Amino acid sequence: MIPIVKQLLKYQNRHDLLNSTILEKFSLQQRITPICAFTDIDDTFIRRSQNPNNHARYQKATKNIISLLKRNAIPVIAVTARDLSGVVEGQSPATDNLPAFDVIASSVGTEIWIHTKENNYVKDSIYESKIAKKSNFSRNDIYHILQQAIGELQEKIPGIYLEFQPRDKEYNTLAYKYNVNPKLSSLTTEDAPQDLKISLEFHGTYLQVCYIKRYLKERLTGSNFEKVKIVISSGLTFSPKKTQFSIDILAASKGNAVSYLKKLLQCKAIAAGDSGNDIDMLLNASDASIIVGGCKIELVEEMEKYSLKKIDNNFSLLEDSNSITNRIIYQENDVHKGPESFLKGFLPLLHYFN
Ligand SMILES: [Mg+2]
Repeated sequence: MIPIVKQLLKYQNRHDLLNSTILEKFSLQQRITPICAFTDIDDTFIRRSQNPNNHARYQKATKNIISLLKRNAIPVIAVTARDLSGVVEGQSPATDNLPAFDVIASSVGTEIWIHTKENNYVKDSIYESKIAKKSNFSRNDIYHILQQAIGELQEKIPGIYLEFQPRDKEYNTLAYKYNVNPKLSSLTTEDAPQDLKISLEFHGTYLQVCYIKRYLKERLTGSNFEKVKIVISSGLTFSPKKTQFSIDILAASKGNAVSYLKKLLQCKAIAAGDSGNDIDMLLNASDASIIVGGCKIELVEEMEKYSLKKIDNNFSLLEDSNSITNRIIYQENDVHKGPESFLKGFLPLLHYFN
């Protein structure tokens, strides 16, 4: 039986998939096990620079990635901390000119949206209920624990900046709790809090944020939320001792979203990323990974826990504590960053799987 007929039979109960752009691309690939690109967006698939020359170089690299993937009928799945509207906003030529991703795993992997042939995104509600149940995520209870823990940490480390991110702040939570459309009535400018994700922002050092993560983990575990994930990703650096960190408290991670999609689509995954929220996608869920140049400290630190068996200049096999895995890692080792590294790593990996 030709691969696509097999695929269609498999999805006869999934109308969202039967009408998706991803299956269209699979049919063009004509592989028994099709290949998908899973990519983080910011600082991986696109990168900004204050320097106009560098900015233009990154834009060109992104454009080249899009045409490389299109030429090879490789579906591209965005796996991002942005929410769906943040990705859709980025698709405008006036913003980031992002492509129509075939699937969007948004909000750090807590939501999955499938792109239809009519250019809509349909939520995969099976995934949502699965992760909610598995993680035992209860937004109100977790929110309360976090509120207390933030207060305790502010006392322990005087002067630290540790707050809920705007959409998770109490005023916004209350605005949405008691009003149908608080944005319309000018009660808030923020979007609604999300059911399976609560995010904090911290300014300080990497060591401090690691301490905060351990502290929050302990508090959540003590209240039977041991399956809830805490993920750290760094953002802007203000000074040597002050970096902006996102601390995401989640029902599922990017790695969970990738594993689910790999199983659902029965495909091989080549993943690319640059920061802490990409770690489990890159090191546990994918078949091959690209760690782009300019990647963040938390990913560099994590990589140091593994040994790598070198195959070629930039390519290695990942070795965990017991054995060499068959996961290939491309690590940038020169000046190329973000989308430029993606471009350098992707084609050899595609050939490898062919
Ligand atoms: Mg990123």
